[in-house]
Amino acid sequence: MLNTHLIDSHCHVHFGQDKAALKERIETAITNNVRQMLCISIDETDKDEVIKLSQDEESILAAAAIHPTHNPGQVQTIDYLLDYCSDKNLIAVGETGLDYFHIKEDTDWQKQRFINHINTAIELDKPLIIHTRDSMDDTLDLLESQGAKKCRGIMHCFTGDWQQAKRALKMDFKISFSGIVTFNSARVLQQVAAKVPLDSILVETDSPYLAPVPYRGKANQPAYVVHVAEKLSELRQQNLSEITCATTRNFYDLFPQTAV
Ligand SMILES: [Zn+2]
Repeated sequence: MLNTHLIDSHCHVHFGQDKAALKERIETAITNNVRQMLCISIDETDKDEVIKLSQDEESILAAAAIHPTHNPGQVQTIDYLLDYCSDKNLIAVGETGLDYFHIKEDTDWQKQRFINHINTAIELDKPLIIHTRDSMDDTLDLLESQGAKKCRGIMHCFTGDWQQAKRALKMDFKISFSGIVTFNSARVLQQVAAKVPLDSILVETDSPYLAPVPYRGKANQPAYVVHVAEKLSELRQQNLSEITCATTRNFYDLFPQTAV
């Protein structure tokens, strides 16, 4: 099937929005050919909101986990997480991972929490959504040692090098590019983006953060994901329609139940 619409594979469209503004964001995305958005809940405080949004809005898909920087020191048990992530509206377990940028001291609890999330995803047979900052090699080590290839997933907002990308690809993970790939300073990442196989790329906004050029520094929104796709088209010398079709097909490869 030829997919002509874009999917924002990672956003927090619900952050800081009153109902009317949120509705407008979603409408703007749809008008700009972004027919589906994977909206990520970061902890207990917004999980019900994100699930409800996915029930009310056809274009919104939902995922949940405890974000690596939230509730520092707490390690949720696998039993807790199985229950937490079991809702049928939640299509993925995430975002989860490691973050040594925000949390530098004592990484043991972070690792154990991440391990429990990985095993939850395997048990529920839901893909993982991986957040990693200043911790890519440890993140990949744990994904490999815990057998994350079984559930697969998304390297969200990927900023690693080619060696790291190859390790993720070996586990059948998709590599999701955000607005960072449009920044002039992101030369290494741009080279990676040109090399990743077409059947493994995704695009995302991570909105309201990380607005792509030409909106850099402003509030981001799912409608802007086309600027990420355009940059990939330029870097890879493939038509925008090819990038659009491939990224959407790749998303459906991970989440076939969401195909429209
Ligand atoms: Zn996020």
